[in-house]
Amino acid sequence: MPSDALQIDPAMLPRSLSGALMRGIKGKCPRCGGTHLFRKLLKPIDRCRMCGQNWSIHSADDFPPYIAILLTGHLMAPVIITLGQSEALPQWAMMTIVLAMALALLAAILQPAKGGVIALQWWLGLQGFAGHSGKVEAGVS
Ligand SMILES: [Zn+2]
Repeated sequence: MPSDALQIDPAMLPRSLSGALMRGIKGKCPRCGGTHLFRKLLKPIDRCRMCGQNWSIHSADDFPPYIAILLTGHLMAPVIITLGQSEALPQWAMMTIVLAMALALLAAILQPAKGGVIALQWWLGLQGFAGHSGKVEAGVS
């Protein structure tokens, strides 16, 4: 168990990486799932008030924006191709639609991507979570 985290009922721990990822993607504490992981759009809480896990030690860095850009690009490609084939649509209208959709998708994907990356780092014991991974704590080999 992490030295600075509270002892919790083992049933509250995620049983797999996918369980931890889903909690992070939903914006819940990956360790206990009992409270929110973020206090602002992209700012995680310092410490979970339910399980005491320190989330300030994550190091998600540029990975969440990379994921958001990758997914947005793949989701936007068919839209751009379809709009580009339309001869009736003026270019300024196409650019406006594409830009608005891309910004909306990025805004929608960024927080779940960051939650997932934080959960992944915690589960695997990466970066600041070294020495107290969720995988070891949950007894998963
Ligand atoms: Zn928690």
